[in-house]
Amino acid sequence: LRDRKLIVQIIPFENRRQILVTHDATESERIEMMRRDFIANASHELRTPLTVINGFLEIAGAQPNLDVQTRLSHLRLMAEQGKRMQNLVEDMLTLTRLESVEYPLRPEHVPVASLLEQIRQEAEALSSGRHAISLSVEGPDIQGGIDELRSAFGNLVSNAVRYTPEHGRIDIVWRLHEGAPQFLVRDTGIGIRPEHIARLTERFYRVDKGRSRETQGTGLGLAIVKHVLLRHDAVLSIESVPDKGSTFTVTFPARLVIDSGMRAAAA
Ligand code: ADP
Repeated sequence: LRDRKLIVQIIPFENRRQILVTHDATESERIEMMRRDFIANASHELRTPLTVINGFLEIAGAQPNLDVQTRLSHLRLMAEQGKRMQNLVEDMLTLTRLESVEYPLRPEHVPVASLLEQIRQEAEALSSGRHAISLSVEGPDIQGGIDELRSAFGNLVSNAVRYTPEHGRIDIVWRLHEGAPQFLVRDTGIGIRPEHIARLTERFYRVDKGRSRETQGTGLGLAIVKHVLLRHDAVLSIESVPDKGSTFTVTFPARLVIDSGMRAAAA
């Protein structure tokens, strides 16, 4: 009980006897602190792009005769900041939905091969030819939330692209490992020092804020991944060597596998 804070209330009851009501405030305080932190972080993240946009709007108002080139460059910078705010708000909405019991997971047949092919194409677009990206699908389809898994796998793959310098490799693998379906993304990127690994799935936790922002990061990607995986009883493991690369592995429970008999019956 050393770290816990208990609230004890004694309420008179029927004149004579008393009821002792105890309430553990530790958990509610922790949740309240997380909520406060989240609001503070989100406000801070939104304030920076808003300041940039407002700055350029002021310039546009004060200097109506700016040349076309300068004006275009200001518009481009404002659009970038607008996109950053949009990404952030979308990720915040996704996280809120994932945490809410009002949006339960609707498990359906996940066509893994086509889902991962879509994600590979998005990764190619993000990389614009700067990386070699491979996809290997050997495992079976599973039951799960398609949109949620698209978001989790998409985040892990886009991180691999964003944190891997030019000419690096990114391998995306779907396989069956000791009977359990497994998603794996391996990169030859900047890697992560061991002391950061345990905190990576916290909201807004970043090893390098500058790099994350430069590549359109919101700091919420791995928090989204964590919640999607929780909803599937899946486990994330991270192996990483600084300056060599990282492997993010997701292991799903074997019970989510759709066997070929079930697939044939459904078709
Ligand atoms: P962000 O939007 O900042 O990428 P994430 O929640 O997706 O946020 O990731 C949190 C942090 O984890 C990143 O800022 C980065 O420091 C680190 N990270 C995630 N994936 C990788 C990776 N593949 N290689 C190196 N660092 C990574």
